[in-house]
Amino acid sequence: MTLRNLKPGQSARILSVGGDGALRQHVLDMGVLPGAHVTLVKYAPMGDPMELRIHGYELTLRLKDAESIQVEPAPAEEHSPAEKPLPDKTEHPGLGEEGKFHPKGSGNPLPDGTVLTFALVGNQNSGKTTLFNQLTGSNQHVGNFPGVTVDRKDGVIRGHKDTLITDLPGIYSMTPYSSEELVSRSFVLNEKPKAIINIIDVTSIERSLYLTMQLLETGIPMVVALNMMDEMTGNGGSVDINALEMMLGVPVVPISAAKNQGVDELVKHALHVAKYQEAPLKQDFCDTNDHGGAVHRCIHAVVHLIEDHAKQADIPLRFAASKVIEGDSEIVERLSFEQNEKEMLEHIVLQMESERGLDRSAAMADMRFEYIYKVCDRCVSKPLKSKERLRSQKIDGILTGKWTAIPVFVAIMGLVFYLTFSLIGPFLQDLLQSGIDSLADAVKAEMEKGEVNEVIKSLVLKGIFEGVGSVLSFLPIIVTMFFFLSLLEDSGYIARVAFFMDKLLRKLGLSGRSIVPMLIGFGCTVPAVMSTRTLPSDRDRRMTILLTPFMSCTAKLPIYSFFVHEFFPDAGWWIITSLYLLGVVFAVLVSLLFKKTLFKGEAVPFVMELPNYRLPGLKNVLHLLWQKAKDFLQRAFSVILVATVVIWLLNSFDFRFNIVSDNADSMMASIANVIKPVFKPAGLDDWRIVTSLISGFMAKESVVSIMRVLFGSELTVSIGSVTAACMLVFSLLYTPCVAAVASIKRELGAKWALYLVLWQCALAWLAACIVRLIALI
Ligand code: GDP
Ligand code: MG
Repeated sequence: MTLRNLKPGQSARILSVGGDGALRQHVLDMGVLPGAHVTLVKYAPMGDPMELRIHGYELTLRLKDAESIQVEPAPAEEHSPAEKPLPDKTEHPGLGEEGKFHPKGSGNPLPDGTVLTFALVGNQNSGKTTLFNQLTGSNQHVGNFPGVTVDRKDGVIRGHKDTLITDLPGIYSMTPYSSEELVSRSFVLNEKPKAIINIIDVTSIERSLYLTMQLLETGIPMVVALNMMDEMTGNGGSVDINALEMMLGVPVVPISAAKNQGVDELVKHALHVAKYQEAPLKQDFCDTNDHGGAVHRCIHAVVHLIEDHAKQADIPLRFAASKVIEGDSEIVERLSFEQNEKEMLEHIVLQMESERGLDRSAAMADMRFEYIYKVCDRCVSKPLKSKERLRSQKIDGILTGKWTAIPVFVAIMGLVFYLTFSLIGPFLQDLLQSGIDSLADAVKAEMEKGEVNEVIKSLVLKGIFEGVGSVLSFLPIIVTMFFFLSLLEDSGYIARVAFFMDKLLRKLGLSGRSIVPMLIGFGCTVPAVMSTRTLPSDRDRRMTILLTPFMSCTAKLPIYSFFVHEFFPDAGWWIITSLYLLGVVFAVLVSLLFKKTLFKGEAVPFVMELPNYRLPGLKNVLHLLWQKAKDFLQRAFSVILVATVVIWLLNSFDFRFNIVSDNADSMMASIANVIKPVFKPAGLDDWRIVTSLISGFMAKESVVSIMRVLFGSELTVSIGSVTAACMLVFSLLYTPCVAAVASIKRELGAKWALYLVLWQCALAWLAACIVRLIALI
């Protein structure tokens, strides 16, 4: 039978895992491998995907992928402490005590003044960011990794100026799966950090150790930070630290990143292993007796064969051997084998597969987990019950319950939107706006006193203060939105939303995770686009980015209210709601189109961890908000400033660079008049409308203010309700504003950003034409 046939609550033992290539490797790396015990926790409210419990943590898996996993019924395998005595507590340092494993001060230290670089590596949600913030305090800077747009956070460890620590994206294995994971692996392999700080979530230690063992193979000096010890001991569990150190061959420091316990000791050990370049004492985990030792013999044979290649390619030998056996194409390529060597390697691996009775990937994963079980048996006494897990199960009963999941989701999002867009956001926005206004007034008064040149005055007041100011006033909304989203994200809720929305989004060619950016898109496209970085597949990420602009952002709301108020006062609510829905309908249609054309191809398996619910640390949240704010401000004062000045220029001068008294003579009007005919079929052929739409490219709100200025009191006289309807639809669909396009460019590159602008304009134009046609008939 397959995993698909299990009923909720039933347990089974995995016999084989189907599929092939990187995707299958990923499933194996997440611990879904032959021999492992699984329990089906539940199905998502819509019936797909399923939630599994394996090695003591929760995973999601689509039914389609579950079908390729053969299982046999078996009783649940939960370690009960009754069977297993607590580990021997002799020489067991408590939280924060000095470790007793490595001899100190021996060997050849690196010369003084060498910058000790550290890579902070660990699973997602293991507490990397929390630890990073503890280690660096405010000494950190955020940038992108060279060549890719994945956040790179570097920082100096507090009190140790010759250090540099990099927070890497969370990974589960050294076989990369998403673009973020690729970044982590190449950082470790190519940038040669002096040491690795491997952070482990002790409450799901089996899975974390899977990564640890691959990191040990690289031979890079390493310390293990055993995080979340507070939860472990709080529930009555314990870890024999010394035994763990012995079995892994590296210092292990129990810490609680959130409570800042044990962090100083961790730093001491990390500095020591880096300074003295103390390599892990153990890299060889294959057991000579395990299943006849087939895997052991295979690894060692491969190690001998590839020794010189690995040296030449500068890849750690043992690590290279593992990856060659697993068939990692990137590593194999870098090792540049001759044809006969390739054949020999293949022969060795085939031999192992037939002796072991498992294919190469499964055999390697199995070998690692065999050792991990041994380690956990010897060193870890898991708590009988985990308060956090019980609490999570209770919360999940409601938040992912069959009948409650969707209503609660709608309610939560409604609340977030209400708080962001009508309570807290506008309050802060007004505050900031009045600040900007009074500054503008003060500057104006000063300039009048000083009799400053009219042109300069107009530039400063109309160009900079009005332009950048109006964009700047969105800062509070963005920050507030991010505050709530980071609460939802860090608490573990977003993972659940992705879980129960997956089936619906799959129909559109997206995956469950795409829901997050879409939702943020109703607020503002800029943070929405930024939030797509968490998507594991590049295809999903691109597609999601291209769809977010269809979610009507808040800046379009003033346009809707303005037109509805002027032209359709009786049907206001109805029209605005329809516009929002129309945007969603377009997104659905376009995604169906994309699915058939640009973004063909299989959806990647949806294997995602469902972490326990945790309250995020305040410090972390504040850090994040500050970074988002900084990001936004940088943009406001670069791209947006330049753009506003250009618009001001075009609007205030004619072609002979004389200041115009009537905007109708300005360069902008002349340009608008030239392109006006294009807008004729869409019913928008008035230079004032064209101008306002162009300025809407800067910031959507400005459409309204420009129209007010240009039309004065004759708006309803000059244009009819058909034009108004066309205008509404056009504003809904046409290009997102400069800030959004800039962030899309950052994520996808200039070419895609340009395509998006053109394509959205064409779509908007077409839709407006259709509206006009319908209205004329
Ligand atoms: P990352 O995904 O690896 O960067 O993990 P984060 O640093 O974002 O942490 C994930 C969650 O674990 C957050 O909600 C943290 O507050 C929480 N957390 C981190 N360290 C600890 C710890 O030592 N104890 C407990 N109880 N929670 C922690
Ligand atoms: Mg993080």
